[in-house]
Parts: sequence; C-alpha cells; structure tokens
Amino acid sequence: MLRGATLRVTRPRLAVLAAVHAHPHADTESLLGVVREELPGVSHQAVYDVLRALTGAGLVRRIQPSGSVARYEARVGDNHHHVVCRSCGSIADVDCAVGEAPCLTASDDQGFSIDEAEVTYWGLCPECAAAPATT
Ligand SMILES: [Zn+2]
Ligand SMILES: [Zn+2]
Repeated sequence: MLRGATLRVTRPRLAVLAAVHAHPHADTESLLGVVREELPGVSHQAVYDVLRALTGAGLVRRIQPSGSVARYEARVGDNHHHVVCRSCGSIADVDCAVGEAPCLTASDDQGFSIDEAEVTYWGLCPECAAAPATT
C-alpha cells in the first residue's frame, strides 16, 4: 500500500498503518500505544507525522466528530458515514446510503457543484441505551 502511494516504506509507517487497520476509529494516543508494542522507542511526534503522511496519501482517513479528538481508519474511498454515541463516544461505520458521494442531495445547492456530504449520525450505542440512567 505504501509503495502504491509512493511513500517510502519505513518501520514506523508500516507499524502505524497496521495499527490503523487493526483498530478502526482509534485516536492518536491509542495508536501510539499499539505502535509502541512493536517499536518501543517511537515518539508521539513520529506517529503524528506518519498519520499525517498516510492521510495525505489517501491510505488513511481522518475523522473528527464534534467533541472528539481526531480518529483514524483504513477504510477509505467508499464514502461511508459514522454513527457516534453521545454518551460514551464509541463510533461505528454506516454504509453510504446510495453507495457514492455526495450521498445526500442538497435541497438547494445554491449553484455550488457539490461532491461530498459529510453525515454523522448521533445517538446512543446499544450498551449505553441499555444502561440505567445515572442522573
Ligand atoms: Zn455508548
Ligand atoms: Zn469508519
């Protein structure tokens, strides 16, 4: 994948890419922990830089629901959406409703040529919905 994106293959890049594949929607801190199991000396900055390079090359997608830190996933290019739990912040994938961007047709496109609609569904995950109210 790295070579296909003309990125030099380095151990941190391989480790970060593998970590993103294994842990979809993980944040930088979690990915750092996973990468350090393989490369104990890797710095936070190195992982951050690799994530930026992978995102720029289109190998990794960066998402950031409001109120959340940036999260990364290796499922790219299929215009899928996300459902986010308001209570615990867990994130799950939701397939694109029509299979291609922009998915939703704007009620009025204002003359813009629209190529993407970013949809985030909000609600409660099954665990949180089942938990008794704590208030
Ligand atoms: Zn939840
Ligand atoms: Zn996703």
